[in-house]
Amino acid sequence: MSVKVGVNGYGTIGKRVSHAIFLQDDMELVGIVKRTPDYAAFQAQRAGIGIYVPKDESIRRFEEKGIEVRGTLDDLLSKVDVVVDTTPGGTGAKYKSLYLSKGIKAIFQGGEKADVAEKSFSTLCNYEDALNKKSLRVVSCNTTGLLRLICTLHKAFGVENVRAIIVRRAADPKEIKRGPINAIVLNPPVIPSHHGEDVREVLPWLDIVTAAVIVPTTLMHIHNVILKLSKTVVKEDILSILEESPRIILINSEVTGIKSTAEIVEAAREVRRRGDIPELIVFEDSITARGNEVMLFQAIHQESIVIPENIDAIRAVTGLTTSAEETIKMTDSSLGLKSPLW
Ligand code: NAD
Repeated sequence: MSVKVGVNGYGTIGKRVSHAIFLQDDMELVGIVKRTPDYAAFQAQRAGIGIYVPKDESIRRFEEKGIEVRGTLDDLLSKVDVVVDTTPGGTGAKYKSLYLSKGIKAIFQGGEKADVAEKSFSTLCNYEDALNKKSLRVVSCNTTGLLRLICTLHKAFGVENVRAIIVRRAADPKEIKRGPINAIVLNPPVIPSHHGEDVREVLPWLDIVTAAVIVPTTLMHIHNVILKLSKTVVKEDILSILEESPRIILINSEVTGIKSTAEIVEAAREVRRRGDIPELIVFEDSITARGNEVMLFQAIHQESIVIPENIDAIRAVTGLTTSAEETIKMTDSSLGLKSPLW
């Protein structure tokens, strides 16, 4: 069976989700919705991707530039089983009733409020609970990173509580109008930040507190995470679990010389398409275990970490695969996850 998918919004996340769908044997990318006839529209056309526009009025602007348009969002929605909404945060909610009226399944992103979908989703935590839902919300990049770590360690040792400091990138590399360019901004000035709340959308039982600052960088986020486990562990216990886990890569600074987000991205540019790193990066040397408390640094490539979960979400809502293991295997091998970064 091949599921027909449309992607509404062709920005940072939308273009990566579209390419990832293209790599799956059990899905077909019917088309994308593009609002502006810019360089990305020319690239999509050259890649043979069907281009649709939000409304009839936009068609002329595309055609004037020689970009062929196959129809409107409405046309695309009538041809697909699933829509992945990758419009800017808050815009997905405005489209929700349209998606529902078409009787198709919808995947939303973390920039939407949790109530946009039936469930907030993270493959390593709640794939089976998400099966055959009408809509899912793939949680944000920071939340996806926290959840991959927490659920992996929870399965092995039990996690009792989590405290995390999140150092956020200011903007994506392409975003020319966002800052700060010379400040560290408390985001927000009170504790907790919303990230812990978002983790609890997936793990309602978890005692978690997060705080966040924004720094002038575009490459990646960094988290300092402290977890209280149900068992006493030593560093090697954590290492062996994370090493075996899908979607997590350990970086040993001593061996690789990598001790910054800049060096991770530089390594990825050499060996990964677009320099993307959809895996959660855990700095091996930072892992410290004392009794049942574990502390570490991790890094998150915000532009690509949620892409595998979007692909799994399509399989979950359509019931293409019924187990997390199965979809992880398919998604991760098609995207080349855990291939060497150095
Ligand atoms: P983006 O701005 O890069 O892309 C959004 C695209 O949607 C743009 O191409 C824009 O022109 C288009 N668009 C705007 N209004 C539209 C409309 N009404 N109809 C159709 N298309 C429209 O945004 P992004 O970074 O890809 O974020 C998309 C979603 O993913 C947000 O919810 C965001 O919070 C979430 N997310 C972003 C990141 C990240 O770091 N970029 C990471 C994880 C999740």
